[in-house]
Amino acid sequence: MNATKYVFVTGGVTSSLGKGIIAASLAKLLQARGYRVTIQKLDPYINVDPGTLNPYEHGECYVTEDGAETDLDLGHYERFLNVSTSQANNVTTGRIYQSVIEKERRGDFLGKTVQVVPHITNEIKERIQLLGNTGQYDIVITEIGGTVGDIESLPYIEAVRQLLWELGEGNGIVIHLTLVPFLSAAGELKTKPTQHSVKTLMESGIKADILVCRTEHELSDEIRQKLALFCNVKREAVIQSIDAKTIYDVPLLMLEEGLDVVALEKLKITDYPEPSLDKWRDFIKRFKNPTQEVNIALIGKYVELQDSYKSILEAFIHAGAKNEVKVHVHPISSEDLEDKKIQEKLFNFDGILVAPGFGERGIEGKINAVKIARENNIPFFGICLGMQMAVIEFARNVLHLENANSVEMDSKTPFPVIDLMESQRKISKKGGTMRLGAWDCTLQEGSLANSIYKKIKISERHRHRYEFNNDYLDQMTQHGLVASGVNPDKNLVEVIELPDHPWFVGVQYHPEYKSTVANPHPLFVAFVSAAQKHHNSKITNNAEINK
Ligand code: GLN
Repeated sequence: MNATKYVFVTGGVTSSLGKGIIAASLAKLLQARGYRVTIQKLDPYINVDPGTLNPYEHGECYVTEDGAETDLDLGHYERFLNVSTSQANNVTTGRIYQSVIEKERRGDFLGKTVQVVPHITNEIKERIQLLGNTGQYDIVITEIGGTVGDIESLPYIEAVRQLLWELGEGNGIVIHLTLVPFLSAAGELKTKPTQHSVKTLMESGIKADILVCRTEHELSDEIRQKLALFCNVKREAVIQSIDAKTIYDVPLLMLEEGLDVVALEKLKITDYPEPSLDKWRDFIKRFKNPTQEVNIALIGKYVELQDSYKSILEAFIHAGAKNEVKVHVHPISSEDLEDKKIQEKLFNFDGILVAPGFGERGIEGKINAVKIARENNIPFFGICLGMQMAVIEFARNVLHLENANSVEMDSKTPFPVIDLMESQRKISKKGGTMRLGAWDCTLQEGSLANSIYKKIKISERHRHRYEFNNDYLDQMTQHGLVASGVNPDKNLVEVIELPDHPWFVGVQYHPEYKSTVANPHPLFVAFVSAAQKHHNSKITNNAEINK
């Protein structure tokens, strides 16, 4: 293939239809046929990136290798494709305007009135083509956030219209994701909302090439025919996307529906090879046929919204499949763990994970959870803030440093075991100023971490401001805590572990961002396996007691 081809994914009728999953599934199928694919998400909000957003707004903030704080859909792309994304894969309206305004201030448009059309739309087109122009991809899939008809998506839709025209037929296509609702009173699937959203798209000058129809019920031939006729697409371009048990089923369902084949043909690619999906199928088989179950407590502050911990939940799916274990993750609000009764519940879990987070609320509950895990030999995994909580718990209860804390939570703590790095002290701006993206880490030979990763040099992604305070390292080491991973350049502690405990690991970085279907993260795999062991030892102990 010569020039890069473009697939645009738009959404109609309602939000939350899963454009990200459809885009990732199509990308997976195209990749399985040997094409080099990447996906990009355009978000119509004015924040420059989602880094400053509360997880309740759009779910977790996903971090790429190059330190971009991005939409959680990029996580799906990486987990499906096993290919890294970057800042270029996520663009927001805020970023577009910021760059146009910077150009205006520099004088790039001197003399001209700066307008939505052409300046904003040109900037959008440039951002879309940035990935294609690298020459690294045969196909770029661009997902437009929001729903057609939204005021804020208009410049994106206009940019796509212009780009389709510029690229010419066969070089760019539009997939419109829509909803075909079932009205139980009428006992029928309804096509009208889809017809309307296709019409709205058409008013902006864009004709959908393929319809992907989200539905709870099978679409009959008659309905497909009707959708094709009234929405002006070919019959085979009406693709059913029925509710699936797991998002990982979607690529195979789309294969059955022929989404990739219709897309390839519309892109005038005709000699496509058969897809090779054996590994994917094997993963699904393992995931769906577990031989054992474990229960993990996920202690966090944003537990009402599952999307807040998306990558962690997905990493457990990958690790569970690898171990052939069904991992039940039970979200528990850290604030509730300030209550003794709820703390007792933790004794029954096979593993305890203390999640990443920001701010003071609920931290005492997290510290209580660490204590229970440490004292009762329950496998413990602390991620980012979770690792910091483990350090604070150790300082308070093993070193007896009363009121030890992180300066994030208590700026006047007598024992700032988690502190700000010198370079962070001067920073007052919030956006994009944390320690972000990939950083190297050297693991201590013979440590648990070393045995899990099976190497010494690793690199993991970060998103935090505060650090382990090395002034306390000797004291902690003397009492049995091992700093088994350290950043070689800045000497920052990245991994802690307790060798006297069956499995106690805290990491300052976010391993969950790098777990994919093809490469489940070793720490999650090892944690699940430790939870299995703990589960089995409880059964053996109970059997002994009952003898
Ligand atoms: N709030 C902590 C920090 O900024 C931890 C951040 C996190 O868990 N991602 O260092």
